[in-house]
Amino acid sequence: EERIITGQEQDADVWQYSLRPRRLAEYIGQNQVKENMEVFIKAAADRKEALDHVLLFGPPGLGKTTLANIIANELNVNIRVTSGPAIERQGDLAAILTNLGDNDVLFIDEIHRLSKTVEEILYSAMEDYALDIIIGKGPSARSVRLDLPKFTLIGATTRLGAIAAPLRDRFGVQCRLEFYKPDELQFIITRAAEILGVEIAADGAEEIARRSRGTPRVANRLLKRVRDFAQVSGAAVITGRMADEALARLEVDRYGLDRNDRRILQTIVKTFGGGPVGIETIAAAVSEETDTIEDVIEPYLMQLGLLQRTPRGRIATRETYRYLGVPFPEKG
Ligand code: ADP
Repeated sequence: EERIITGQEQDADVWQYSLRPRRLAEYIGQNQVKENMEVFIKAAADRKEALDHVLLFGPPGLGKTTLANIIANELNVNIRVTSGPAIERQGDLAAILTNLGDNDVLFIDEIHRLSKTVEEILYSAMEDYALDIIIGKGPSARSVRLDLPKFTLIGATTRLGAIAAPLRDRFGVQCRLEFYKPDELQFIITRAAEILGVEIAADGAEEIARRSRGTPRVANRLLKRVRDFAQVSGAAVITGRMADEALARLEVDRYGLDRNDRRILQTIVKTFGGGPVGIETIAAAVSEETDTIEDVIEPYLMQLGLLQRTPRGRIATRETYRYLGVPFPEKG
């Protein structure tokens, strides 16, 4: 069963594409990233050159794909969208790159999942706008150098640590996307409601924002579910109370946590005395993938101060005990 509060994209999220802002000025939040990008975009446009390669990283659903599209739009160039796992062979990448126009953007989502052989030819493509590929097999094989149009690679990843240093170093611009603040999410929700033609009161948007895990994708998803709830109960406007009731039914608590989150916290506190516990141990105990726990679940728990990562493993905080309603064991 799919979790309603996960930042990872689900099949049913496609409708959200229509909510994507198209200009930098409409992109809510991420102010520092936005300010920097504005300068880089203007400089590249003035010089009529391709923008430096850009690496965007952060948890899923924070707007990496949206920002990549905006950058291309602001540069007035075309964007080609693909993902690490979709580029299987060197030939696939060669076909994509040779078909780009001058200064175009190539967006590679999940760039940490590129295969080693594809990654290898990407280096010269990024650095020299050229591809060194081997043609033929055996003794007649020879290497040819293919010139490419100047382009901007925008890579997105949820795990910076999984990107090899030589690849990372080739990105001149590196931006970390942060969780959104409640007032920013409230704004995003209000705007989405407007586009969807849904009436929402300020406290309704505020309630949904608070429980959206700092993530626009989750905020939009919750808005849609709350709207269904409001509609069925015959309410014309989504109020705070209505949102609270709907979200309680969906088992999203007032911190935006669900049963899976609580199971992880309970495992650390109750089974392992507050930790430290290794990530594999936690993953096994709650039957969840370690990658999902690390990339999707933990960042938000840490943001709330409900979990700490230490070299020896995960530990619960005083806040975790308070959240679970378990007395904090005073050491002494
Ligand atoms: P990611 O690529 O990081 O997983 P997306 O760019 O696909 O995330 O964003 C998910 C959805 O959230 C988008 O479809 C868009 O509707 C919304 N969204 C993301 N960032 C913003 C933002 N800054 N302002 C408004 N809406 C946003």
